[in-house]
Amino acid sequence: MSERLFNFSAGPATLPPEVIEEAREGLRSLGGGVGVLECSHRGPEYSAVHEDAEARLRALTGADDEWELLFLQGGASTQFLCVPMNLGANGDYVVTGTWAQSAFAECEKLGAAHLAASSEETGFDRIPGSLDLRDDADFVHVTSNNTIYGTQWREMPATTAPLVCDASSDILSGPLGLDRFGLVYAGAQKNLGPAGVTLVLVRKELVARAPASLPTMLAYRTHAAKKSLFNTPPTFSIYVVGLVAKWLQDQGGVEAMAARNEAKAQRLYDAIDAHDLYRGHAQAGHRSRMNVTFHLTDDALTAPFLAGATRRGLVGLKGHRSVGGCRASIYNAMPPEGVDALVAYMQEFAAERG
Ligand SMILES: *Cc1c(COP(=O)(O)O)cnc(C)c1O
Repeated sequence: MSERLFNFSAGPATLPPEVIEEAREGLRSLGGGVGVLECSHRGPEYSAVHEDAEARLRALTGADDEWELLFLQGGASTQFLCVPMNLGANGDYVVTGTWAQSAFAECEKLGAAHLAASSEETGFDRIPGSLDLRDDADFVHVTSNNTIYGTQWREMPATTAPLVCDASSDILSGPLGLDRFGLVYAGAQKNLGPAGVTLVLVRKELVARAPASLPTMLAYRTHAAKKSLFNTPPTFSIYVVGLVAKWLQDQGGVEAMAARNEAKAQRLYDAIDAHDLYRGHAQAGHRSRMNVTFHLTDDALTAPFLAGATRRGLVGLKGHRSVGGCRASIYNAMPPEGVDALVAYMQEFAAERG
């Protein structure tokens, strides 16, 4: 392979090189048989892949047999509607960014969505402190990590209603603490693998809530009853998610990842705080360990900063259009060396232009 770039893209995002290499083999052949793109989802080769991915994800998330583990399609965005359709559309939402806003909007279309708190007034630079939660809500919805604004919950709120979490951009970045939740979902393309599959962990008692009138494909019970093989699943995406899960286990699991991610994020925030040239978007104490958002205090320097980064093989650093500036997404698969290379570049750039 030619020299690998350090890819700071928010998603689809960088994958471990070991996983890419193994997936190349899987494209050619699975255990001497046909390749993963070409075999039946009902055949023995794929069945082994499917079961292996589920078993590894259960081990990494702590999902025991109280939980259904589903591989679904339609992205996290489809879960914005599946959650209220299955659990009841009387949800409490904590709106901490663009994705949370979109989830709230879907529930509003379906029923009685209630805004429990929002940090929109301050440019989504923090997680709101106090929440207006209703005891009779069907669920409380939070977004554990706000990919666009770069904030992250430190501790989940205590709730009476089941807690539902969009964990698309920080799932398996550390221990999940599944006990606190009723349902967790995540599009795979940030921290779990390639685009095309969405992981849903849902308590069995909540699966049963959906009305019988719910269209078949939208009901969790359909997919739970058939182990995510009701219809053709996104076989390749699930295969690669399984390889990423194996890689995570080889790295020491989610505890080891948490320590590594904490150290990576700290180095980057230290570099931002050390130079007047850079200004972080998120408030201290609310900063994400996955998506580090920052501005150059002189915005005219943003374009040269990004161009210089690209020349060094540091790519995908442009901020989301709604925030501007820069964003370094440093998910599990971003090696510490990538963060070190970015920090070195930031220091040099500050020395030259600061
Ligand atoms: C990317 C993202 C989404 C959207 O995911 P899709 O799979 O594209 O629908 C939703 N929520 C969060 C937190 C995200 O980061």
